[in-house]
Amino acid sequence: MTSKVGKDRVVKFEYVLALDSGDVVDSSEGREPLTYLHGHGNIIPGLERQMEGMEVGEEREIVVEPEEAYGPYIEGQDILVPASEFPPNMKPEVGMGIMVETTDGRQIPYFITEITDDGMVRLDPNHPLAGQRLHFKVKVVDVREATEEEKAHGHVHEGGHHHH
Ligand code: ZN
Repeated sequence: MTSKVGKDRVVKFEYVLALDSGDVVDSSEGREPLTYLHGHGNIIPGLERQMEGMEVGEEREIVVEPEEAYGPYIEGQDILVPASEFPPNMKPEVGMGIMVETTDGRQIPYFITEITDDGMVRLDPNHPLAGQRLHFKVKVVDVREATEEEKAHGHVHEGGHHHH
């Protein structure tokens, strides 16, 4: 009864993630499969929705539109900051995510998209995969019932990622 992906079940799956271009941007190959608690918004909505009902051992190709992934790319939000303003122990690199404090004191994640020849760092609040249609190849390798504690917390308790 517990062999299908569904709400309040802990799902372990292997995946390959590619873009429309065919470029692979992420994969579980050579690593542990990804483990998550289904039905609690722990993975992107379009993937969670389309994995519903999959059985252990089943493979599926799943296409997720940006609206159900990392959202649309919103232009004109990027800012340029001199690299010299970064803390001395932090070397800016393209792809790195950093928290930026807004004028009203909130912390917002930005991603470094460019480092110019004249030492400026371009920061963009769009997720690096915003605006992208995602092509997943997934294979479910294990499904089990979540414990009461996992259901209450809304996430999985294994693999050393737990920090309550
Ligand atoms: Zn917990």
